[in-house]
Amino acid sequence: STQEQHPQICVVGSGPAGFYTAQHLLKHHPQAHVDIYEKQLVPFGLVRFGVAPDHPEVKNVINTFTQTARLARCAFRGNVVVGRDVAVPELRAAYHAVVLSYGAEDHRALEIPGEELPGVFSARAFVGWYNGLPENRELAPDLSCDTAVILGQGNVALDVARILLTPPEHLEKTDITEAALGVLRQSRVKTVWIVGRRGPLQVSFTIKVPRPRKRLTELLLRTATEKPGTEDTARQAPASRAWGLRFFRSPQQVLPSPDGRRAAGIRLAVTRLEGVGEAARAVPTGDTEDLPCGLVLSSVGYKSRPIDPSVPFDPKLGVIPNMEGRVVAVPGLYCSGWVKRGPTGVIATTMTDSFLTGQMLLQDLKAGLLPPGPRPGYAAIEALLSSRGVRPVSFSDWEKLDAEEVSRGKGAGKPREKLLDPQEMLGLLGR
Ligand code: FAD
Repeated sequence: STQEQHPQICVVGSGPAGFYTAQHLLKHHPQAHVDIYEKQLVPFGLVRFGVAPDHPEVKNVINTFTQTARLARCAFRGNVVVGRDVAVPELRAAYHAVVLSYGAEDHRALEIPGEELPGVFSARAFVGWYNGLPENRELAPDLSCDTAVILGQGNVALDVARILLTPPEHLEKTDITEAALGVLRQSRVKTVWIVGRRGPLQVSFTIKVPRPRKRLTELLLRTATEKPGTEDTARQAPASRAWGLRFFRSPQQVLPSPDGRRAAGIRLAVTRLEGVGEAARAVPTGDTEDLPCGLVLSSVGYKSRPIDPSVPFDPKLGVIPNMEGRVVAVPGLYCSGWVKRGPTGVIATTMTDSFLTGQMLLQDLKAGLLPPGPRPGYAAIEALLSSRGVRPVSFSDWEKLDAEEVSRGKGAGKPREKLLDPQEMLGLLGR
């Protein structure tokens, strides 16, 4: 049948999940056509807007994604917000199958008093700010205090602590934005506390398998007990910056400054563990501790949002209910990445799970479970978008912006200087 010969497939989101799903489908089906819709003007999701600027090697996956995007059977459709500019049922009507790979765009709130005070930010917004996410470009965090507290002990917390404590001259040759670098150069933050509810054996710095955990624990112990080498001492001395982990503490309240205008500290409830191993839960002992600080960064997790009323969503787990990537009770609808599994796991985890979703989709196609007959694909959606005044950008548009960023970074010896303003980007594309 036509659908089996020339399936039109739509992927929502151009992060690792979207690109790895597309890659699998295109590789294993010689006639499949895949359109990747993306709300930003630029592709790659958290590889561009999450991964820390001082980890450039992690971003090499962009080369593979670029090869996929350049295939004749693949198209990038940026500047399209699915759920606003086009509805999921409209995509489902235009394509044989739709894969939702839109990640986790929100953050978990602390749900404690004082959370709204100036000086309190989500780690998500802070990361978006130093990585040039347009919606966070005005964040302008005040780093004139000497102590910052990061709530949560995951990989993101470590990234944020490192960016706060790294001497700015060590970041000058990365793709961190010039604006962030300027603020970090003025920073007076000397001490960063990374606070967690549980103990050293439960931290979520990396994937939860015994082997890396063992190595991680060894590393923690080593760094805590070893004397720094001369090189480290030399690097630390002028800045005299320090960080530390505080275990068995759970945030209770952000304490305001005397004039009530901003955050001046955090009240932590002391906890102890109940239960054993991974399942151990932190319960409050009744004691509290006040930690003075001018900056509070909450890093207790990212969170997916529901995208469209027609798509089932589990608000508790924050995922689209699915069986190995098949959205429950909606034939022809699939999901991959953080919106499928929840917001944990590195790019490699996301790759494996996206390949699996791709495999399920192709199995269903082969079994005749997807709609029969031809589907219009992008032709139908293009007409809809144009009637709504939405003008998508293509992958070659991104390549123009990419070249501009690379050229702007050259003078300063940076791999790129990211464009932050969508209006300016559209202007560069002649819009
Ligand atoms: P995302 O990368 O978030 O991609 C989702 C895409 O969907 C985005 O481009 C988004 O704009 C788009 N989108 C959202 N809503 C819509 C909509 N309505 N319409 C259209 N498009 C939409 N992993 C590593 O391996 N190494 C690291 O060093 C590392 N560092 C990290 C640092 C941080 C701060 C974070 C948060 C994560 C890090 N990770 C790292 C994990 C890695 O980023 C994730 O595993 C991966 O990005 C998840 O892929 P995803 O495609 O599901 O989500």
